[in-house]
Amino acid sequence: MTTTLSHWIAGKPTAGQSGRFGDVFNPATGEVTARVPLATQQELDAAVAAATAAWPAWAATPPLRRARVMFKFKEILERNKEVLARAITLEHGKVLSDAEGEVIRGTEVVEFACGIPQLLKGEFTENVGTEIDSWSLRQPLGVVAGITPFNFPAMVPMWMYPVALACGNCFILKPSERDPSAAMLMAEWLKEAGLPDGVFTVVHGDKVAVDAILEHPGIAAVSFVGSTPIAEYVYRTAANHGKRVQALGGAKNHLVVMPDADLELATDGLMGAAYGSAGERCMAVSVAVAVGNSADALVDRLATRLRTLKVGPGVDKESEMGPLVTRQHMDKVSGYVDDGVKAGAKLVVDGRGLKLQGYENGFFLGGCLFDQVTPDMRIYKEEIFGPVLSVVRVPTYADALKLVNDHEYGNGTAIFTRDGDAARAFTAQCKIGMVGVNVPIPVPMAFHSFGGWKRSLFGDMYVHGPEGVRFYTRLKTVTARWPTGIRSGAEFVMPTMR
Ligand code: NAD
Repeated sequence: MTTTLSHWIAGKPTAGQSGRFGDVFNPATGEVTARVPLATQQELDAAVAAATAAWPAWAATPPLRRARVMFKFKEILERNKEVLARAITLEHGKVLSDAEGEVIRGTEVVEFACGIPQLLKGEFTENVGTEIDSWSLRQPLGVVAGITPFNFPAMVPMWMYPVALACGNCFILKPSERDPSAAMLMAEWLKEAGLPDGVFTVVHGDKVAVDAILEHPGIAAVSFVGSTPIAEYVYRTAANHGKRVQALGGAKNHLVVMPDADLELATDGLMGAAYGSAGERCMAVSVAVAVGNSADALVDRLATRLRTLKVGPGVDKESEMGPLVTRQHMDKVSGYVDDGVKAGAKLVVDGRGLKLQGYENGFFLGGCLFDQVTPDMRIYKEEIFGPVLSVVRVPTYADALKLVNDHEYGNGTAIFTRDGDAARAFTAQCKIGMVGVNVPIPVPMAFHSFGGWKRSLFGDMYVHGPEGVRFYTRLKTVTARWPTGIRSGAEFVMPTMR
């Protein structure tokens, strides 16, 4: 049965008016399960109007009361963890345990936002001048928007809106049209937690809705997570319209295996990081850099493990890897594998053409492993965003570091070694935003901030943690004196504190 989804505007489901819809699939079966409305500019305008009307009262709500809404919301999320995880699996395809992990990591940002009274405390200096005091405070921006990708339909929005809301903003979410249902569940639960109508909005859509957000004069800031070409477009367009922007883009994450690394640990790390969530993670490892003589043993171990990887529908508890998100994406990833073979890389394990009994129409692709990949190949240069791992062999640590630093992306990286010196040098010298030492996917916790370097992030500020609070607030500094401190007469020179 196909359901027709709604937007969430002014605290209630609102039917789409455009007459345009996108298909939502169950990637394990290939069936269309829902139709998502694609908003017009007028529908976005109506959503902004509702949010703008709600903002003054929400901004004036004491931070402690806003935190209490977040606290209730956290309890609801914890109670419904499995419901949300199932909704994710049915539209994204990832295995249930992984979807639950996503919900937990997102909930941790809600937990961080519960501490907003402490995070919004300003700074105060008594007597900056004689009988003059000065303090700085952070105030919310107004109506802000988030545009999010398909690969984490709950967690990536949760990188943004808990912090934005707790800081006193109204938030408009434009989720991915591939897996829109998680956003609707979260909207309902925010209302149940006591969030006033209009403070959180969901507008579904495609480029039309995104462009309307980027150009709307009533939206003060835009957070974006998605592919690099769109991130760059969002950054430039929104900035051109006077908005604050953080736009997180794609990635090509390298894991460097030094000759002295624990190969079992490195193999385990690579298996999870390359093939977990079918490689559809911005922190997935897609390149293993084997230094010195570590390569043969590493490739052997990876191939052995990959041949027994259990690929199946995400709802099956036995599955370790689910399908890709759409047929189109599956074909694109397969095309990259064809390209790698043509370019001369050695395809050690070929996952193409996988058919699962009972799921013949699902978007399944088995894990693929390439050896002898070189930096000039397309499979090395571009983000594939699928279950494809490339092994690049280099003679020395310096060559490995050069590869990592020369790549256009700079989201995450890791080094596996037993040598503290090598690890310390690598963490200091790599031009990457998030670095792991014997940790394959170094995703910062909610109370730190997440973001990459180079073409993996456009803008200055990372998401969540302290940078998230800074992004969703602006600084005001007040200098005040009371009658005892007022001197007589106007002064025409630059004021200096006496
Ligand atoms: P995408 O760029 O196709 O879509 C992201 C969002 O942009 C969606 O909401 C989509 O509707 C919108 N969009 C798509 N095309 C558009 C266009 N032409 N104009 C305006 N808006 C448009 O990304 P995706 O395929 O949903 O997600 C995968 C990508 O996201 C990967 O590149 C991955 O690395 C990246 N990602 C990055 C991070 C990070 O933290 N850096 C995290 C998750 C995902």
